[in-house]
Amino acid sequence: MATTVGFIGLGNMGNPMAGNVLKNGFPLMVYDKNPAAMVNLVAAGASAATSPRQVAASVEVLLTCLPGSPEVESLYLGPEGLIECARPGNVLVDMSSVLPSTPRKLEPLAQARGVQFLEAPVSGGVTGARAATLAIMTGGDEAVLERVRPILRTIGPNIYRVGPAGAGNTVKAINNMMSSVNALAMMEGMMVGIKAGLDLATMHAIIKDSSGASNALARVHRALIPRNFEPGFKVQLMNKDLDTFNSIARELHVPVSFSNVAQRYQQAALAAGLGEKDTSVIFTLIERLAGLHPPRD
Ligand code: NAD
Repeated sequence: MATTVGFIGLGNMGNPMAGNVLKNGFPLMVYDKNPAAMVNLVAAGASAATSPRQVAASVEVLLTCLPGSPEVESLYLGPEGLIECARPGNVLVDMSSVLPSTPRKLEPLAQARGVQFLEAPVSGGVTGARAATLAIMTGGDEAVLERVRPILRTIGPNIYRVGPAGAGNTVKAINNMMSSVNALAMMEGMMVGIKAGLDLATMHAIIKDSSGASNALARVHRALIPRNFEPGFKVQLMNKDLDTFNSIARELHVPVSFSNVAQRYQQAALAAGLGEKDTSVIFTLIERLAGLHPPRD
């Protein structure tokens, strides 16, 4: 019998990740506080729960993919929480990007109830979630990882054991800081080119074969040229991840700089009411700073 799996948090990432678990033959029970997020998965054969507690009490392995630490801690802790409701012997895997202190807090509380816990944040965006190519950065007990590896493999082939609980989210925050800084450097560079009269697609074609290339260039055809700023990865989530990076750096007394510049842009986007848009929307702020006011914004 295939392991029964639950999935809570079926947003831009969780929905396609859960879809891949289901496609690979694992019986799946889903829950999201937004019922519309469950519809396509139920149509594909998942069962819908009416509460997180029902999922926790029903499945052997429960995956969660929620916005951040406050949502994760309020779902896992407390009398109706996942740790309290999971059956001893079963596994809880949190795939959200959170403060390292969150998995460090949850793991021993789960273990005290005989429940296993693994942190497993992901990277690769919505495109990677759909294509099942995500990188998965786990922290915690190796035996727990081996137990859930067949399920994680349906979500992404690159599964790493980084270290103890908290280590996965540490490398995840470092990754997102670098991704954000690369994206902003790319967008500022492109803006200078545009004002110099260069064509965006031409700059993209040249730089992708040159030393300034990075993953950030994918945004040119995905977001900047079509002016598609629907998430994707929301500004408010990147802001949270930069908060995480900055708090880790602060605790360790590493005087970082680029993350603060990147966060200024996320803050400006939040102040402009763009928190629910994709992080590429910051290009429109850079346009305004450069004195361009595109007609469609
Ligand atoms: P999202 O906002 O699209 O989805 C979050 C989902 O969680 C929503 O459907 C929401 O209704 C649900 N939810 C929130 N609180 C809940 C609760 N208490 N009970 C049940 N459901 C609840 O966010 P996302 O983009 O899917 O990101 C999820 C996590 O993955 C975040 O930690 C994010 O930082 C991380 N992440 C996102 C991306 C990306 O490209 N979008 C990439 C890698 C990692």
